[in-house]
Amino acid sequence: MEELVIIGSGISGYTAGIYAARAKLNPIIVDGLEKGGQLTLTTIVENIPGFPQGIDGNEFVNNCRAQAEKFGTRFITDNVVKVEKEDNHFKVHLANGDLIETIAIIISSGASARWLNIESEKEFKGKGVSTCATCDGFFYKGKDVIIVGGGDSACEEAHYLSKLCNKVNIIVRKDKMRASHIMRERVEKINNINILYNSKIEEILGDNTGVTGVKLINNQNNETSNIDVHGVFLAIGHVPNTKFVEGLVDLDEHGFVKTNRDLSTNVKGIWAAGDVQDPKYKQAITAAGTGCQAALEAQKYIESKE
Ligand code: NDP
Repeated sequence: MEELVIIGSGISGYTAGIYAARAKLNPIIVDGLEKGGQLTLTTIVENIPGFPQGIDGNEFVNNCRAQAEKFGTRFITDNVVKVEKEDNHFKVHLANGDLIETIAIIISSGASARWLNIESEKEFKGKGVSTCATCDGFFYKGKDVIIVGGGDSACEEAHYLSKLCNKVNIIVRKDKMRASHIMRERVEKINNINILYNSKIEEILGDNTGVTGVKLINNQNNETSNIDVHGVFLAIGHVPNTKFVEGLVDLDEHGFVKTNRDLSTNVKGIWAAGDVQDPKYKQAITAAGTGCQAALEAQKYIESKE
């Protein structure tokens, strides 16, 4: 019987691993498909305290992993397909058919950003195409950018970018935004924000320096047009990775795990940390903070059982 299984290996999972391993809980992290999480999709990260020059996202993630390993965290590279409750413990089923039995679980499986799924997007991922304006907006200071999406995230990120960038174009695929009235109204009033409705990106254009523009198509009349921009920010939603606990742990209407102030879930012995329970902030530093909190709470729980 294991004491603690941490499901997912982003910053929240690694932080939980560091704390749990130092508390001698001998934790296992099940890596999952997107090993390292969202930070592996970015280049330089400048908003993590302690790195005044910034740090490469992959380097940061690898350092966190090495730190968790140094204190004794074990890793399994596989996907969790189901978690079941059994009397006083849990059964964690892996895709390869293996089963781990454990007293406590921290779900830190993250939320995957939605992508447009067009060919040119892959080419410029991390070279002008980003899913996080707060993380990468600073690199586009004084430049023209595009933000795709019509929800609250698109509005919030457009507002943020409007203070840094020369011009922000919001690309909305329908004839109206899904965002709340107040958020929409706020961006409509900002001078350097231009909203283009009924439009979608057909192709992201660029060269070896990165993105240089986009080709747009109007959904109503099929007319195409090019806009010169250096950054393309996608704010078309996130999909929390919570399928494996559906029916066991309470989820909100978008599939995010519902947590209490101490990161506990409705199931005693299961906590959640990081983006999987956070549709709002989605930052590395907040993910790390919640990973720490969840591990400290799990430690108390496990020790009370001994
Ligand atoms: P949403 O799911 O609310 O919105 C996603 C937007 O992206 C929609 O406009 C959708 O268009 C569009 N979209 C989806 N797929 C594509 C695609 N392939 N191409 C182009 N456009 C696409 O996600 P958000 O991240 O905005 O918000 C998630 C939740 O978090 C919401 O409940 C929101 O209210 C909340 N939130 C709250 C904030 C706050 O209160 N400060 C800030 C940020 C988020 P369509 O409408 O046509 O489907």
